[in-house]
Amino acid sequence: MLNRFSHCFTLSIMVLAGAVSAWEVVTVKPSAAENNAANELRSYLERVVPTGDITVGGKAARFIVGDSAEARGLGWSIAGLPEEEWHVKALDDGSVVIVGGGSRGTLYAAYHFLEDKAGVRWWTFNEEDVPSLKSLELKGLEMSGRPFFRQRDIYRCRIPHDGGRFAAHRRLNRDGDYATKAEYGGNFTFGPPQFVHTFGPYFPEKDYFKEHPEWYALRDGKRSPSTTNSQLCLSNREMRKELYKRLMGFIDKGETDAKERNLAPPRIYDFSANDCRNPCQCEDCQSIVRREGSEAGPLLDCLNEIAEQLAKDRPDLMLSTLAYYHTETPPKHIRPAKNIIIRLCDTDTDKAADFNAPQNQKFVNLLKGWAKLTDNLAVWEYSITYMLPTGPFPREFHLGNIMKTFAENNVKYFMFEHEGVDSSDMYAMTLWMESKLLEDPFADCEALRQEFLNGYYRAAAPFIDSYRRLLLASTNLHGTFVNWFNAPGEFTMFDAPTAIAASALMDQAEAAVANNADLLRRVRRARLNLDRIIALNWRVIVQNHVDGGNKPEAFPIDHDALLKRIRSTWSSCIPSMTSQEAASAQMNGECDRVAKFTYTPCKAPSQFAGRDYIDFIMEASRLYGQVVLPDTESEAGSRVTATNPKAISLPLQAALYVQETAKTIGAGTIKREDIKGAGYHWYKLFETTPEPTSLIYILNDWTIQFHLDSRMHALKGRKFDVWFNVKFDGPDYPFGNPDAQNSVSVSRMLLIPK
Ligand SMILES: [Zn+2]
Repeated sequence: MLNRFSHCFTLSIMVLAGAVSAWEVVTVKPSAAENNAANELRSYLERVVPTGDITVGGKAARFIVGDSAEARGLGWSIAGLPEEEWHVKALDDGSVVIVGGGSRGTLYAAYHFLEDKAGVRWWTFNEEDVPSLKSLELKGLEMSGRPFFRQRDIYRCRIPHDGGRFAAHRRLNRDGDYATKAEYGGNFTFGPPQFVHTFGPYFPEKDYFKEHPEWYALRDGKRSPSTTNSQLCLSNREMRKELYKRLMGFIDKGETDAKERNLAPPRIYDFSANDCRNPCQCEDCQSIVRREGSEAGPLLDCLNEIAEQLAKDRPDLMLSTLAYYHTETPPKHIRPAKNIIIRLCDTDTDKAADFNAPQNQKFVNLLKGWAKLTDNLAVWEYSITYMLPTGPFPREFHLGNIMKTFAENNVKYFMFEHEGVDSSDMYAMTLWMESKLLEDPFADCEALRQEFLNGYYRAAAPFIDSYRRLLLASTNLHGTFVNWFNAPGEFTMFDAPTAIAASALMDQAEAAVANNADLLRRVRRARLNLDRIIALNWRVIVQNHVDGGNKPEAFPIDHDALLKRIRSTWSSCIPSMTSQEAASAQMNGECDRVAKFTYTPCKAPSQFAGRDYIDFIMEASRLYGQVVLPDTESEAGSRVTATNPKAISLPLQAALYVQETAKTIGAGTIKREDIKGAGYHWYKLFETTPEPTSLIYILNDWTIQFHLDSRMHALKGRKFDVWFNVKFDGPDYPFGNPDAQNSVSVSRMLLIPK
């Protein structure tokens, strides 16, 4: 910064510099956080006003940070202010009071002053803008606020931890799994065993199952201790007694650990289901479910008993549990106790739409239902899609509507699960907007979007803005449904015209900042998800171009340049991550694979020419361990090949499974005698009428799935025959090549209306 002034202005600056030391930052018996607030204020202001003075009505400013007679004179004592409420006020004598309630309020006052008045921006965990001003006059300055949500958490992970500095800059009072140091105000967090999915750690199989199998869920006539496929028997009285003992032990451990590490003690203890469905089917549990119309019934019946005892023993602590999967429906009669936080998880919504969209009404109704039952409602919102990569989706246009809906429905605690410094779409921008909206869900979302675009991307902003608007328009045009596990082929907004126009806009964005390496890196990162989805859907997009009457070789995006740019941008993200080896392996795996995806035509299925059908190619399948590969032998032009003997043994299974009701409505098999010959053949597996949350799987281990949510508008209420195009190869199959490895390749699914 100093070298800016290293020419003929030096002398006059030196003269002006005489006044620099006039402004000062003082504290009176500061806490660790107040002391840090003062240090941060001083060091940033030295950069913001490097040579001039900071004044109040012409008098040198005297920033008084934290508790002081001046603050108390204004009625603001640290203990008297509501937690996290903050105030900044310039007085006529030149004092500038910077103060706030609880352990974080004063920090928030200092950071708000730096951001809103001095113009500092903390864009990401490692990128900030500090303006340079000639002077700063603060007469009449008065600012105050309090974050809207009581708990504000963005779960990031895979980023080196900074002790809570970024979280404090962004006014997040929880920082995922990371502890926030006292100097950053500590955090508002969960105690052991962990912050979610705690049935397993409360009752480890090795400690309890042998003696108390009845404490675990009854599944199909047997008690199951699995933490991936089963839950607990929540109606069991003896289990509840042990649960309370375990809770007391965890509280003790949580408080001892916090003391040793000089951290704030945990305030919330979680008791929530394992990360699966499959609740207990015993008569005692199910009689509560029948009465309450929800699996949340037995959960709250159990937890209320624990909460009642906790309220007597430790009225300062809260319990938390999940409204997730089978427990998401609000119960009819039972109410959560006042010291229970209900954490409603948004697993259902279309993330490319706002909460007015018809497809999102089911979730909005769940939210409204829970809002009536509790004053301690938490939301767990997913910012990314998990079937990597996160394809681009126009989330930023809807965040304002979404956060306002949560705020208006009594939500007090909030967590965004937002991993993926290398893989999330528009990671920097959405994370920044999320933190702003956690503080004020009624803020002008479009203004925030523009502020970030212009501040972070500078000259490239108009082109990125146009690309994102194009994405929004195409998403709306195609009715693309972005579920939290979308496969690449489910990002249907990327037809050829959209992919071509979006790429051209990002070429312009790059050109606009070509002479600034930092800005170019930011623009390239914003482009990475676009590039990856085009590479992964290359065949589909080029086919769409060909279907529009063009030659495949006339497709204007250069495949080699695309792949080169993906590798270069992606690898540049990895040095800032904690798990660099895993990130590199993932990058190389995907890059090597998509390099093979030159154009192989995707032809209409000739056997069904002239018939009505709904087409699912493999790019739109959700895969668990398999990958899509090009294959000119199949009409669809691609395949997924499985070789796991158990998954591909005959008879080969396929079925439609409704996740919400755990029901199978239609199933079929391909038996040895059904196999029609070498190569790909069509097999009619079963007939079905899809319901919402349906998936159709093939293979005995369910590892190839087509989820139907995005097509439900075309499928609902109609009966279909389900056909798969499959090739069997290897010595175990009739007509298989005896020298080949045993394998089953799937290249397409069709639903034919009946
Ligand atoms: Zn039970």
